[in-house]
Amino acid sequence: MVTVEANAKINLTLDILGKRPDGYHEVAMVMQTVGLHDTLTLEKREQGISLNINVPWLKADEKNLAWRAAALVQEEFGLTGGVHIELIKRIPVAAGLAGGSADAAAVLKGMSELYGLNLSDNKLCELGAKLGSDIPFCLLGGTMLATGRGEVLKRLPDMPETWVVLVKPRISVSTAWAYQNYDEQGAERHPDNEAIQKEIARGNRKGVAKLLCNVLESVTINKYDVIERYKQMMLAKGAMASMMSGSGPTVFALAKNREQAEEIAGFMRQEKNADVFVTRTFQLNRMKA
Ligand code: ATP
Repeated sequence: MVTVEANAKINLTLDILGKRPDGYHEVAMVMQTVGLHDTLTLEKREQGISLNINVPWLKADEKNLAWRAAALVQEEFGLTGGVHIELIKRIPVAAGLAGGSADAAAVLKGMSELYGLNLSDNKLCELGAKLGSDIPFCLLGGTMLATGRGEVLKRLPDMPETWVVLVKPRISVSTAWAYQNYDEQGAERHPDNEAIQKEIARGNRKGVAKLLCNVLESVTINKYDVIERYKQMMLAKGAMASMMSGSGPTVFALAKNREQAEEIAGFMRQEKNADVFVTRTFQLNRMKA
């Protein structure tokens, strides 16, 4: 039996550089792993795949990314043995936090361990990229610049540990919808990925906070003004910065310390139609420990 944690991510930046001939968008984004995670337990079975999820409405079938990751490993390595996966979800679904990608990454690692495949990070990332652009980042974690479709990764120094409040309004935003609307609307402001990398290297949290920027934010806010409202509420409570993650709708705030994060979260929990989490940025050296 193998147990693997699947951590969520937030975007510190998200830029779209253009559309590629293959239909994907060329992106440049600084991604950051946070402590909020799903837990997956994998057990060997004689054959096949079975999946059980603690969220009844999330389909536990062959379309689920956890299932697809297990099937890919079976196929790629001609495994005749099977697996049962127990998935405990804590990361909100379709939230801009890469929950599904994190689960897929965890299953790839888990299958490698369960079946003694000893897959290198490179091989895991190659397999992961077949299932989704964010999966290589989820496999490696920490603080990274992601380019290409999101699968070309450059490791950055760890962002200094920062407390984070996540607020997920109870609305769903499809990633495809957000990108499509971006193509029509564009964005007024683009991130300065060079500058933010310098601030990360300097370990300057305030500098990082000032440079948060996501070109999909205005697209999603145009349709769902609740996102702007949550941002303003958290800034009014003294957060260092607040922004939407990925294609949304989760809004996150960087807090000065744990106490402030708890205070902001307490305030946001008065909102009836939102789920609120307190977490912190995950540093790679701690992740491996
Ligand atoms: P990203 O930030 O990469 O765009 P996300 O956080 O917005 O991802 P996910 O939680 O990964 O979104 O879910 C996106 C879709 O993937 C959902 O509509 C869901 O039905 C499907 N999905 C498949 N497998 C999973 C899984 N294991 N966990 C969550 N969603 C899954």
